[in-house]
Amino acid sequence: MTLRNIAIIAHVDHGKTTLVDQLLKQGGVFRENQHVADRVMDSNDLERERGITILAKCTSVAWADNGETTRINIIDTPGHADFGGEVERILSMVDGVILLVDAAEGPMPQTKFVTSKALALGLKPLVVVNKVDRPDARIHEVHDEVFDLFAALDANEEQLDFPTLFASGKEGWACEDLDAADAREHGMTPLFRRIIEHIDPPENATEEEAAKPFRMLVTTIESDPYLGRILTGRIETGTAKPNMAVHALRPGKGTVETGRITRVLSFRGLTREPVEEGKAGDIVAISGLETATVADTITLPEITKPLDALPIDPPTLAVTF
Ligand code: GDP
Repeated sequence: MTLRNIAIIAHVDHGKTTLVDQLLKQGGVFRENQHVADRVMDSNDLERERGITILAKCTSVAWADNGETTRINIIDTPGHADFGGEVERILSMVDGVILLVDAAEGPMPQTKFVTSKALALGLKPLVVVNKVDRPDARIHEVHDEVFDLFAALDANEEQLDFPTLFASGKEGWACEDLDAADAREHGMTPLFRRIIEHIDPPENATEEEAAKPFRMLVTTIESDPYLGRILTGRIETGTAKPNMAVHALRPGKGTVETGRITRVLSFRGLTREPVEEGKAGDIVAISGLETATVADTITLPEITKPLDALPIDPPTLAVTF
């Protein structure tokens, strides 16, 4: 099983939920008993604590091709300006981004901020010009607008050489060549293949890194009625297992909590499922700690140096929706 971690950037209504639903359906981990209406990317159960807004939602799709299965973690990005480094924290978990753009509306100013952060972090963009079925679609103009936007945001040459897919999430297909006779006939396969080809696997997703001491930087927190506090992040090194003794390290403060991991949850389709272990490179959620928070490092008790975390700006406390 190989892995990809990507973020998706899209203006509201450009079709992100519809497209991700299609990936889930066609990728084979979508469950028949879950309604498409359970749209995870739309859920509004935001938690706010210490001014940190919790907007990242992770969906995971599996794609089997030529005998190899790849799990693709797709993280939603907040569609607004940065609150306390949140956008960067989310983007620091991934190796590439999908910029999804409505073929009639084109790139919107509201997604510029997140796009600029993604480019500045050196992430590889993959562009999906969506809703190409719209009668008012301006497909090639919109493609050029994305290029101009990237250029204006100082994208490097490799980033400017982005692959583009043309899609109708509503009709369930994506292609690279709209003029091809079979452009609409391969469902989402061309998009799956492009993601896997273009976006690198996480550098630390190796057995060697998985054998090191466990370390994970907390990116988001939420609370679950059964499991209590859930900390989500990408495992930097090592392997997380239930019952493992850990502590939370806060930059400048040292140990802020000591405890045990009760559950390790991995993303599967629209849900998170308890797993026996989560390895370096994967984005997982863990329960068991009650006060650890965003930007803390969860690690083995003998590790005393936290991972580098982006500072959290206090002014975010004032922000309301
Ligand atoms: P989100 O806000 O980005 O998650 O967008 P949604 O997936 O909820 O879609 C917003 C609206 O656009 C809905 O009315 C969808 O039916 C419509 N829509 C989504 N994908 C397509 C598409 O490929 N073509 C067309 N014509 N409409 C679409």
